[in-house]
Amino acid sequence: MSQINESAIRDVVTEVLSQLRASGTIAKTPAILSGTGRHGVFADAETAAAAARSGFEQLSKKGWAGRAKVVEIIKSMCTANAERWGKIEFDETRIGRLDHKIAKLLGIKNVLGTEYLKPYGMSGDAGITMDDSAPWGVIGSITPVTHSIPTISGNIVNMVAAGNAVVFNPHPGGAKCAAVAIHEFNEVIKAELGITNLICTVESPTIESFNELCASKNVNLLCITGGPGVVDAAMKTGKRALCAGPGNPPVVVDDCSALDFDKVARDIIFGGGFDNNLLCIGEKQIFGVGSAYQKTIDAFKRQGAVLLTQQQTEAIKKEVFDIKDGGGGCSHAVINRKYVGADAAVLARVAGLTIDPKVEMLIAETEADDLFVEEEQMMPLLPIVRTGTFEEAVQLAKKSEHNYKHSAMVHTMNVSNMTRMAQAMDTSIFVKNGPCTAGLGMGGEGYISFSIATTTGEGITTPRTFTRFRRCTLVDQLNLF
Ligand code: NAD
Repeated sequence: MSQINESAIRDVVTEVLSQLRASGTIAKTPAILSGTGRHGVFADAETAAAAARSGFEQLSKKGWAGRAKVVEIIKSMCTANAERWGKIEFDETRIGRLDHKIAKLLGIKNVLGTEYLKPYGMSGDAGITMDDSAPWGVIGSITPVTHSIPTISGNIVNMVAAGNAVVFNPHPGGAKCAAVAIHEFNEVIKAELGITNLICTVESPTIESFNELCASKNVNLLCITGGPGVVDAAMKTGKRALCAGPGNPPVVVDDCSALDFDKVARDIIFGGGFDNNLLCIGEKQIFGVGSAYQKTIDAFKRQGAVLLTQQQTEAIKKEVFDIKDGGGGCSHAVINRKYVGADAAVLARVAGLTIDPKVEMLIAETEADDLFVEEEQMMPLLPIVRTGTFEEAVQLAKKSEHNYKHSAMVHTMNVSNMTRMAQAMDTSIFVKNGPCTAGLGMGGEGYISFSIATTTGEGITTPRTFTRFRRCTLVDQLNLF
């Protein structure tokens, strides 16, 4: 059957269905609309958005209790299914580490829900005013392949807590596992609350379905989590977009005799090695100040990281970056996706090196303008750069971050150095003396989100990020005293 015939038939079916619904012949919100028979999983973005609109209306009738119940369902299902869903995501994407995929799903319980939304009330001689947070309606969400089910789950908790429904256009490389989780979420939400299609997804997402979602009148707001390409594309749609864009987080190790360099190495291996460096907040390049440079390298070796020779580093670089001719004498590096999130042992093998498969991190001594420093390479291979002073380290760290305003880390006991670097970096997340994950509540205080709206400035997303500010004023002498 040709594409044209398919779409003509779909139009006729949609028209007939809408007439039947209008006449009350069939229920306004069928439980399942997808050809696959799966809850919330649709062939195209417009049908998914229309179904989510109905999901939003159903949720609105359930009040705060309904939102809180959905949040509870998502959190408890992520905990209960962490192992199974972690495995299906790992099997589909083939990137990162299974144990860390499971850990990310277990972390969904720390995403903020309805409790975070508090109205702000004012009472005085002129009456009463309430500032409150209203839902947008339907949110179109674009998610990355690096954390498919965790980003979807975290988004749902934040967005539904704020009273919204959501339609996903996931990364094609993680769309199957996304559809499994979304189907299962909807199944339980329907059983517990009677709401259908609160969470929808496009079964086989494409750039066309992205465009369709962005253009849909049923979608009120976009939430974009991904690299520079998709952020750029979303900002051009004209629809309001919250953009959780790329990062390239540097870590500075200060020349500070009071530092425990073994702890520094452990923190960097944990944060930068988490899910084989797939985290957008993950340490991506290290700047060692003065004697801290060698002390950090020695500590890395003691803590199980493998230090590459220059020859080995070059051999890996040649394989993981393709240099493309941009024309006019310009060239740029493109990352070979085959090695994104690969194990350290796989990268080492490229250089003819056999290492223990349990090794979590490779370390390479490089200059500040090396491709491993410049590119957000998302591999468990961290370049370390020697710097003379703390000022130089911060300057190079800032340059390597490309003004993404994402994340940065420092290890120092010098408080004024902490402050100077925090001010200079101006990143959404800044961690002092801990792994990057501490900035999202893993090893540090605070809550987690898998969408950090760096580009548009909202930062770590919370339910409030997905609300419209609304004020209601009652003019009279109604204050209580
Ligand atoms: P990606 O940019 O390749 O894909 C992200 C999403 O955008 C996917 O759904 C993809 O299908 C879509 N997409 C990509 N290009 C598009 C285009 N031109 N038009 C429409 N849609 C497009 O990124 P990825 O490899 O899946 O994820 C890694 C990237 O995401 C890294 O840059 C990382 O820093 C970033 N990220 C950021 C955050 C954050 O919170 N700021 C969180 C996770 C990942």
